[in-house]
Amino acid sequence: MKVGFYGHTRQYHNIKDEIDGNISRVLESGSYVTGPMLKEFEAQAAEYFGMKYAVGVGNGTDALWLSLMALNIGKGDEVITNANTFFATVEAIWIAGATAVLVDCDPVTKNIDPAAIEAAITDKTKAIMPVHLYGQCADMPTIWDIAEKHGLKVIEDNAQGIDGAGNGFKQGERSAAVTTSYIIQKNLGCFGDGGMVFTNDVTVDETIRKLRNHGSPARNVHSAGFNSRLDDLQAGVLSAKMKHITAWTDQRIGWARKYDEGLKECSSIKLPTNLEGYRHVYHLYVIETANRDEMLKFLNDAGIDAKTHYSIAVHQQEGFPWGRDARIAGSLANAEENAATCLSLPMYPELTQEEVDYVIEKVKEWDTRQG
Ligand SMILES: *Cc1c(COP(=O)(O)O)cnc(C)c1O
Repeated sequence: MKVGFYGHTRQYHNIKDEIDGNISRVLESGSYVTGPMLKEFEAQAAEYFGMKYAVGVGNGTDALWLSLMALNIGKGDEVITNANTFFATVEAIWIAGATAVLVDCDPVTKNIDPAAIEAAITDKTKAIMPVHLYGQCADMPTIWDIAEKHGLKVIEDNAQGIDGAGNGFKQGERSAAVTTSYIIQKNLGCFGDGGMVFTNDVTVDETIRKLRNHGSPARNVHSAGFNSRLDDLQAGVLSAKMKHITAWTDQRIGWARKYDEGLKECSSIKLPTNLEGYRHVYHLYVIETANRDEMLKFLNDAGIDAKTHYSIAVHQQEGFPWGRDARIAGSLANAEENAATCLSLPMYPELTQEEVDYVIEKVKEWDTRQG
């Protein structure tokens, strides 16, 4: 049996009529960039996520650095983030011209460790950029308190955690901005590149609207800017998919509970932690195991497309930081441990019971062999 890591075409086939309908609406409208479909999707996304403003941009990386720029964070400023994240989080800090300060994660959740953040703060620190890694919210109440105490901005990198929530708190509640990526492998994905910035701050909204469109607030008027827009075809795809995101998240959670139950007796692996009261959206279902590379090969050989997220932490990449501004603050032992032991099992709403059972069976077989 083969179990793929993604269900992109299954998802498309399930709601083909809705997606095709929106694509054809855009094509017939004759308006493909910053047109009515983008406006419609921005309004829909802002409402769904309970934020005042939503600005569609070119991709999730741009969403991060445009947010930094809109907050006047750049050269000489330090931004604290995870050492264990997808590489783009750190790239975005460099694109904005700022210094990336990498700190360790919590050993249980793998999310950024608030104590490590506080220890890393200097008089150059301007922002904290926590990642909701694998789909579970970082400890935002503690991070917001630290930020307020030290006068720092918070930008949540929510590329992996869309539709998630904490225990008694919402994403973005006390942050300057929340960003996401709409690339297909994310929980809400389009058929190309896309990203978004959510904010409750009208200045951030207006600034990013200008920056993404050649610094242009009105025809023929420009200030320093860029080109980074979410196009209307992608907005149409996302608008159709948005209506299903809650159900899709619930399906992911359902599969996670099946894995939890099916694998609870395996002694050679650790299962992901779902904190009490948190809506973990399981962008990834990441287990930990000592013989990770062998286990990965075993699963791959059995037809299961397991992967690693991420087997090389940012500071472990060869040649890091390539002359860019970076500072490692404190020990990164937990991030390194995570890189060495993480293994992601297939996780998407369109999995079948048969596929999930097969993955469980093979993981158990592997576990038995570990003795
Ligand atoms: C995917 C991802 C990004 C980057 O998104 P792109 O749309 O590929 O630019 C940034 N941060 C995290 C945590 C991600 O997972």
